[in-house]
Parts: sequence; structure tokens; C-alpha cells
Amino acid sequence: MICEPTHTPDAVDISALREKYRQERDRRLRPEGQSQYLRLEDDFADQYEVDPYLPATPRAPISEDLDVAILGAGWSGIMAAYRLKQAGVTTFRNIDLAGDFGGCWYWNRFPGIQCDNDAYCYIPLLEETGYVPTKKYVDGFEIYDQFRRIANQFGLYEGALFHTLVRALRWDQELRRWRLGTSRGDDIRARFVVMACGPLNKPKLPGIPGLKGFKGHSFHTARWDYAYTGGHHRDPTLDKLADKQVALVGTGATAVQVVPYLGRYTKQLYVLQRTPSSVDKRLNPPTDPAWVKTLKPNWQKERQSNFHHGTTRGFAPGEPDLICDFWTEISRNLSAKLDTMGRPPMTPQQFAELYEQEDYRVMERLRRRIDTLVEDKETAEALRPYYRFMCKRPCSSENYYETFNRPNVKLIDVAPTRGVERMTETGFVAQGVEYPVDCIVFASGFEVTSELRHRWGIDVVEGRNGLSLYDHWGDGYKTLHGVTTHGFPNQFFIHFSQGAIHSSTPAGFDQQAHHIAYIIAKALRRGATTVECSQKAQDEWVRTIRATAVDNTQFLRECTPSYYNNEGEQKLRYFLGEPYGKGFYAFDKILRQWRERDDMEGLDVQT
Ligand code: NDP
Repeated sequence: MICEPTHTPDAVDISALREKYRQERDRRLRPEGQSQYLRLEDDFADQYEVDPYLPATPRAPISEDLDVAILGAGWSGIMAAYRLKQAGVTTFRNIDLAGDFGGCWYWNRFPGIQCDNDAYCYIPLLEETGYVPTKKYVDGFEIYDQFRRIANQFGLYEGALFHTLVRALRWDQELRRWRLGTSRGDDIRARFVVMACGPLNKPKLPGIPGLKGFKGHSFHTARWDYAYTGGHHRDPTLDKLADKQVALVGTGATAVQVVPYLGRYTKQLYVLQRTPSSVDKRLNPPTDPAWVKTLKPNWQKERQSNFHHGTTRGFAPGEPDLICDFWTEISRNLSAKLDTMGRPPMTPQQFAELYEQEDYRVMERLRRRIDTLVEDKETAEALRPYYRFMCKRPCSSENYYETFNRPNVKLIDVAPTRGVERMTETGFVAQGVEYPVDCIVFASGFEVTSELRHRWGIDVVEGRNGLSLYDHWGDGYKTLHGVTTHGFPNQFFIHFSQGAIHSSTPAGFDQQAHHIAYIIAKALRRGATTVECSQKAQDEWVRTIRATAVDNTQFLRECTPSYYNNEGEQKLRYFLGEPYGKGFYAFDKILRQWRERDDMEGLDVQT
């Protein structure tokens, strides 16, 4: 199938829109930035963070020596386990607060949950497990099932410790091991640790005045309360909501998937929106068996690379768009235009300008689309997103906008008060009107750019000489290749820091997992007790990162606030860390060549 460019409006007044984008940003900027959110601590953690899916069963504390402790069992954790096993390392454990593998796909079981990325790219190890997704955007449980398939097929359950949170992590110089203290009283002495804690693991709540006094029911979408709503992860028939008035806070990627379900089942739904998402159509065809038959070995990696091009630097001349959806639309349209122009040589600045023009056109197309779907003019206007395409996570849906035509669904625009104004014991207040509700559902997202200590939930991470990792990175990341840092022997990171980013996040995690597994396996084979990156190697990599950095400050500053731009705070912190500026595949080459040299360059290896 040839994927054609889309029809976008030609006559777009970019300078007027730029001004409108600025106004819409300013209307939402809050001086308190990140601190507008509440942390899930103490009472809040008990109420909003417990596992509603699987009860934690009692077990005796463990005291043991281990080769590798992997902190986390989401995509980064399971890829680390898989890669270690491939590299011949067998004595390791995944340790996770959740009750199973799955990470965000364990915790997020809200109705309608689907991966809104092309599943053939997103879901790792398809060829290795012999699995092909059932459709382009698969349901959340299908992804969770792939975790279980990987864990079963490659024997990863044996070592896994679930419902366990690592609380303290200290390097013991005498033992030359990391000592892990956990919420279960374990004392684990691991030769190596892999930090695979994930970027979306800590739910956050908006700091709405009166929240604590609300006497109705409430929960966060990352802990969906099916006991209250009725239905199940695999069958979200929310039949217990038929007599309930429900408020949903947030209109991000999660809410866009939840709204059609809440709209269908509640007596009354209020959708409390501060910033609208951009929502394109979602065509979700089942997988064509004839297409599956055509797939050649390595097809998934090739498709991932095509997707990555389609969301970053644009398609090369003649390169087809295999993904053919809203993620790749700007690149597809731009490629067609460049072909028409005869692909003249141009500076990066000229390329960026052309890209920006396509961005304005696509966003205008998405805004106009709303008018064709939403009957009420005021609601349609409030749903229009005024910002550049990647300011907020783009979404797609089969029926999000149409849900607002239902008589029981009302959009409440809370932008004028920069968020929900306040809550009472029985409901919420917006623009002077109190709306009684039985339940508030928070689709309010996760801590992404807050301090690591809080996100990881690990009070102490101490390397050599008691140096705290949180202090060590207090003024920014310092790593070699994003995976290791000086002063913290035998500790490795799968993390958005100073590596590279793939548009399909798990593919990026796999790159790091592969590299880390190589280092650990080689060290164990050599009988090494410590592996530590040298100060010199770290300094050189930090210089490389800074020298190649793509400056996206202006883009981020012009965006409406969100976790993408650290809530628009003056001290910008990019949610993807400080990625290597020449891109994922150039970075992959660096890592590959490093491994091929087979000399552990930059690492001090002691036996
Ligand atoms: P987000 O952080 O994207 O959205 C949080 C929402 O809560 C925003 O709409 C935000 O508004 C709103 N909010 C926050 N504070 C207030 C307040 N005081 N008053 C009113 N509204 C408020 O979280 P999501 O859970 O939606 O998504 C998080 C990430 O999870 C996504 O970006 C994506 O990476 C991932 N995801 C992936 C999916 C997939 O298909 N692969 C599906 C769902 C999520 P505002 O924008 O104004 O801050």
C-alpha cells in the first residue's frame, strides 16, 4: 500500500496562529510549575497507589548473594532480563512493586486502554516470540500478555520478586556488591544492579484546593477501580456507573481513551479540561494474514527504523511511509513537498522552517476536524488544540469527539482558572457553579521530570564513599553512554538521560539493555568484581552530549505547559533527558563499534 500525503489547509496564517499559541500557553502557565501537583505520599499513597489488581501475598525476607538485581519489570526491566539471559547470565532477579511483569501496562488497565503507537513497532520481541499483534493499535491487555509471553518463554519468572519495592541501595566496598534493602525486609547483595525504573511509574494528582475534603469516591486511572465501576480489564462494561455522576480530571492520552467508555456508561460525565489534546481519527484494522505471510526476517527492526524516520528527521527520498498515521503525517507531507521541489540542498534551519509550516497545517487540519464531529459550537471551540504538534502527546481515537454529543456528557473548560478551581465535600466548583458528583477519576498523569528520588521511591542510592546518586546528578546527568556513571561501580541505567531516544520507547530501552548485558556478561566471564566508568570517559561523553545537542529550548518554551516542558518552568528540564543529538541510529553505531572493539574502553575493570 502506498501511503499518500494528507490534505491540509494551504492558507494558514502562521504569524496569527503563533500569537494565538502564545496566548493559549500564557493562559495556562502557573508560577508554581511542578509544585502545583500533589505527591502520592502517606494517606494519598494508601488511597491512590495500592495495587487493586492482585493482592500482595506474605513471604519471608530473603537474604542472598546475586549476580544482577534489575530494579523494575516494565519494558526496560524485562528487556534487561531478556538480554542478560541471551548473554549467558542466569543469576538475576527483576524486582518490582507491581504483582507481575508489565510496568505501566500492569498498572494501567483503564477502560479503552490501547497502545496508540503502531503495535508492530511498539511491542518488543515479536519475531523472537513468534507473535504478531492482532491489530494496528492493540488493547492494553494484549501488551500485558506479551510481557507474560516473554517472561514465560525465556524463563524470567523464576527470579522475579513482585510486590517488592527497593528502599535503599548502598555500595559495599568490602563485599564489592550492592546491598539492597526492600519493603519486604530483604537483604540482597547484588554484584550488579540495573536501574530500570521507567518514566511513567509514579502517578500524580493535581493540587486542587479542597481535594482532601471530598467525601465521594475517587481513584487514579493508573489504578482503575473496577470494583466500583463494574467491568474488567478485558471487558470494560462499566455497568455499576449507570446511576453515577462522574468527573474526569484531565484530557491527555489516557483520558482520550477513557472518555468514550465513561460517556457510554455513566448517568452524567463531566470532563474537566485544562488543555485539549490533538485527536486524529484512528483506523484500527485487524492484522491482515496475507501481509503477515510477506514478512521477512528482521522486519520489525526495519519497521521501527521507518517509524523513527517518520517522526524525526523525515523520510529519505523514495522511502515509503509504512506506518501511515498521524505520527508520521508531517514527515510524509514534507517529503512529498521536497520531492516536488526537486529535493534542493538546504540548511538545517531551512529544513526546520519547512517542517514548522507543515506542523501548522496539520494542526489546523486537526482543529477543523473537530467542527465536523462536535455539534455544540462552544464545546467544539474549547476542544481545539492551539500549540505545535509535539507540544503535547498527539492522540487518535475512533470516538472521542463524538462522545461530547451525548446528552449525559459535558465538557467543563477549566483553563480560565488554570486547573480545577476547587472541590467541595460533594463535588467540584467551576466558574462559580458547584457540580455534585459521586466519583472523581484522575487522569492526571505521572511524575516525569520531578526529582529522581521521589519517582524511584528509593530513599538512598549511595555509591563509593557514601556518595548519593541524587547529589551526584543534582546539577545534571553525568554518564558514559547514558548507562553508567563514575563513583557508582557496577550500577547501570536504562533511562532517559544521555543515551538516545527511539520513537518507539521500548526499542530505545532495548538498545541500552543490550549494551548493559554485554558489559555485565563480559565482566562476569572475566571474574571481575567491579566495573566502573572512569572520570575521563564520563567527562568526554558529557562533552560529546553537549557538543551534539539539538537546542529545542525555543520550541519547548512556546509550548503550553505539560510534563514535556517541565510545566513551562523557567528551569527547563526536557522529559527525554539530554539525548545524543545525532540520533538513535548514529548512537547505535557508537555502541556497536564500542562493543566490537571488545576492550571495555572507558571502564575500569577490577578482578
Ligand atoms: P498527561 O500528563 O498527559 O495528562 C494529564 C492531564 O491532567 C492533562 O490533561 C492535564 O492538563 C490534566 N491536569 C493536570 N492538572 C490539572 C488540574 N489542576 N486541573 C485540570 N486538569 C489537570 O497524563 P496521561 O495519563 O494522559 O498520559 C501520560 C502519558 O502516558 C502520555 O503522554 C503517554 O506517553 C502515555 N500514554 C500512552 C498511551 C499509549 O497509547 N501508548 C495511552 C495513554 C497514555 P494540562 O495538559 O493542562 O496540564
